[in-house]
Amino acid sequence: MTTRKPLVVANWKMNKLPSETKEYIEKVQVTLAGQDDVETVLAGQDVLLSKMVKAARESTIAIGAENVYWQERGAYTGETSPAALEDLGVAYVIIGHSERRNYFRETDEMVNLKALAAIQHHLVPIIAIDEAIVTESEGDHVHWVVNQVIESLEGISAPDVVKLVLAYEPTAAIGSGQAMTPELAQFSLRRIRLTLADMYGWEIANQVRIMYGGSVKPTNAFELMRQPDIDGVLVGDAALDPSTFVELVQLAR
Ligand code: PEP
Repeated sequence: MTTRKPLVVANWKMNKLPSETKEYIEKVQVTLAGQDDVETVLAGQDVLLSKMVKAARESTIAIGAENVYWQERGAYTGETSPAALEDLGVAYVIIGHSERRNYFRETDEMVNLKALAAIQHHLVPIIAIDEAIVTESEGDHVHWVVNQVIESLEGISAPDVVKLVLAYEPTAAIGSGQAMTPELAQFSLRRIRLTLADMYGWEIANQVRIMYGGSVKPTNAFELMRQPDIDGVLVGDAALDPSTFVELVQLAR
């Protein structure tokens, strides 16, 4: 049987200042000291990353970026190189978050290029898969989700796909306070795993970690994470408070 290590990822988005990172990380670190049965990731905007990496150095907390460009170097003013993230000690990168897809017009093709570049630089891509319609009936939304998975993973080999993470995030659930029901989330994640099985076979599909994201909080996290295909949660608002983030990590074990 495949065991997939649970993971809890905080997506700080554009909500924290450099001066606020150390205290947050110290609080999380003190409570989680010595525990590494749940992978714990904090993702922050680029200007925070060097402070975050430094503050988390002696801990089991990994640091993630919220975006990356696919070129390593060159005249791409304002973009972030995957080589620079690797050099800094960043371990993860969120790619294709629905806010990037919607506000910055990121396409599946761009997501794919970013994922390939991240892998080349030993960063773990957390590829976000969004969905506008939430329903249990098979239809366009299934096609939408399946397509994003197929196109985002174009050219990614089986040995690399088992190292990356997919994060299913229904748009209506993000920041709304209304998470998807655990049953519906399981239904969607199962669909994603079936797509992985079609692409890579079941042995590989069963090793890939898939997370749910969208209004996760301590009151709904346990039920969500108990679902067979949900390997972790990607958390925005609730993770802004270090005590709540720690609570979510404890619920994942
Ligand atoms: C997110 O944007 O990745 C997210 C999950 O946000 P929230 O938890 O606030 O819905």
